[in-house]
Amino acid sequence: MTEFELIERLCAELPTNPSTVVGAGDDCAVLDLGLPGRWLLFKTDAVVAGVHFQPDTDPARVGRKALARCLSDIAAMAGCPTHALVTLALPDQFDVAWADGVYAGLSRLAEQHGVAIVGGETTSSRERALVSVTVLGSVERARCPLRSAARPGDAIFVTGELGGSLASGKHLDFEPRLEEARWLASQVSLHAMIDVSDGLAGDLRHILKASGVGAEILADAIPLSQAARAVAGVRASNSSVGGAHPPALVAALTEGEDFELLFTIPAGEAVRLLDAWKQRFPDLRLGCIGKITAARGLTLRERDRAQPLTLDGYVHFQKP
Ligand SMILES: [Mg+2]
Repeated sequence: MTEFELIERLCAELPTNPSTVVGAGDDCAVLDLGLPGRWLLFKTDAVVAGVHFQPDTDPARVGRKALARCLSDIAAMAGCPTHALVTLALPDQFDVAWADGVYAGLSRLAEQHGVAIVGGETTSSRERALVSVTVLGSVERARCPLRSAARPGDAIFVTGELGGSLASGKHLDFEPRLEEARWLASQVSLHAMIDVSDGLAGDLRHILKASGVGAEILADAIPLSQAARAVAGVRASNSSVGGAHPPALVAALTEGEDFELLFTIPAGEAVRLLDAWKQRFPDLRLGCIGKITAARGLTLRERDRAQPLTLDGYVHFQKP
């Protein structure tokens, strides 16, 4: 059973109540607890030794990543993070300096974004250390981009460059796109938005599924990172993954942990956005990579041919 099959199974009959605006299935839960004009955002995430970081990774970077992943999900809702809880599970023979380091990394990033760490839990874990973070935030009700809001004709955009995040270390040191996301929500009619955590192919499919639409993306428009190109160079000779696609493109579509913003807006606003973005964020790339279609499915256009994209993003518990 894959991660997404498990999630679907576990979420099939979850209890709910009237203050739940959006439950499981978006980047954050969206809650209406009566704040005038605002919804609360609620998110939890965990990083595990050997999966999301290596045992010899600088603990400050581990702590930073654990919080940054949640902040990236708050960004995907164009929200503002406010509070965090931290659960630390440590092996019996743990190193105090490691735990201190995790908290130092967590605290530094929290301070940068005005997030208060207001509690948590410490527990033991026989084999592997785990850091789980829960974040609370809020968003203007009228400006909360849900995964389900993409419409046929929308232009699809992505920030930054994709692929090679694990090889380059970006997965530990990425900047959650909070400021960019809130600026976008204030400047254009944001329809759907998600952060790229599982890979462009997988995360775009989450939007398509939730919105009941399809998409056509242009291979040449997908922003490939230097790291994706470098990884691709190594991999080209000894891998059959991705079939006929160039290896750097496969890396950008499937590797994940990029933590960039993927979003859709009405096509008529695309040119104005590109222009305003360059003025506001001159150091961060923004690319239009395709369009939303009424016809379901995800199509990749490579030069003169368009074909269904069969590649998927990263999935935990892959089928053997
Ligand atoms: Mg997300």
